[in-house]
Amino acid sequence: MTSAPRPMALEEAARHGTRVTLLGTAGGPPWWENSERSGISTLITVNGAQYLIDCGEGWGPMFRRSGTSTPGFEHGIDHLRAVFLTHHHSDHTVDYPNLLLLAWHNGSKGLKRPVQIVGPGDRTVLPPIFGERQHEPEVFHPDSPTPGIEESTHRLLQAYATDINDRMRDNAKQDLREIFEVHDIELPGTTGGDPNGDPSPAMEPFEVYADENVRVTAILVDHRPVFPAFAFRFDTADGSVVISGDTGVCENLVTLARGADLLLHECIDLDWVSSLMGPGSPRPDPYLMQHMLAAHTSIDQVGPQAQRAGVRTLVLTHLVPGNTPRQKWAQGRAGFSGDFYVGEDLMHFGIGVPAPDPLHDDDDPVRTPAGMGRELVGDGRR
Ligand SMILES: [Zn+2]
Ligand SMILES: [Zn+2]
Repeated sequence: MTSAPRPMALEEAARHGTRVTLLGTAGGPPWWENSERSGISTLITVNGAQYLIDCGEGWGPMFRRSGTSTPGFEHGIDHLRAVFLTHHHSDHTVDYPNLLLLAWHNGSKGLKRPVQIVGPGDRTVLPPIFGERQHEPEVFHPDSPTPGIEESTHRLLQAYATDINDRMRDNAKQDLREIFEVHDIELPGTTGGDPNGDPSPAMEPFEVYADENVRVTAILVDHRPVFPAFAFRFDTADGSVVISGDTGVCENLVTLARGADLLLHECIDLDWVSSLMGPGSPRPDPYLMQHMLAAHTSIDQVGPQAQRAGVRTLVLTHLVPGNTPRQKWAQGRAGFSGDFYVGEDLMHFGIGVPAPDPLHDDDDPVRTPAGMGRELVGDGRR
């Protein structure tokens, strides 16, 4: 039996065929005061190939700082294989344009194949209007008010046409459309998710990506009124990692995470919500409060949810607000009997059995999947 995943230095994590790096652990669009956390983003490295989940604010510089990017000028994303976006909230996608536009200058030349982008498709209907309003807001961009990732990407690139044409003509840059392949996640026909009804009906996880390193499955989670909102599971030869995305307490998340080695789960500080809109706050609004809490998982809910899934290690990430003290998040371990950690930016976790330490076990044959584990040990020490 392998040991449960725990935080470790990059050098140690790099001896694992599969490792997880928290690039950013803050949730929500605000620039949190006195917070050391970057926007939500997670990197999974499998046999040297890299998989990015969500592109919160600052993921690129954090990727650089993490020691997991390919070092050197005009390098960086050389080993990036695929990107997964959980849902279309801006705190998860705001630095997605950075990936597209800055790829030329950060390693796209080193890519051996196009980067696969996998994200939610079109919501198809507008969300209902919440609360009592005198006037309906005017629909923004009524021709296509709820685009999926394929169309969003197309429109983003259009918006940057001046830069793209400049660099393709003046600097002979490769056509960006050859560097990225974008895919809307198609829901299985029998799912029955209803954007304005039950957004996460009971279902089985379904595959959204697979290669020689990893199989990625998804499930709908409850982040209403956002639809579709996904959690993802990464299964590799070393073990399994689940990323909750944004969700309230949700049976589908339990289904997806069942028996996983590592669950990265979002969390919200109920006292902070209450200070804004709870009883005794300047603007009490019980409906809005209930609305917000239904879409997220509170500190006292997250442990029992992980317990029901039977995961080995629970790590809190996507922390809202980003400036709640660590000691308070640590209360999230209540109701969970496995290993528990409060996520911090640039934490690394190794999954499965590590290769022997090359500094101490020179006589042992080193398990180096595709040779990349050793190469990245070197990178981390520079
Ligand atoms: Zn979020
Ligand atoms: Zn969200």
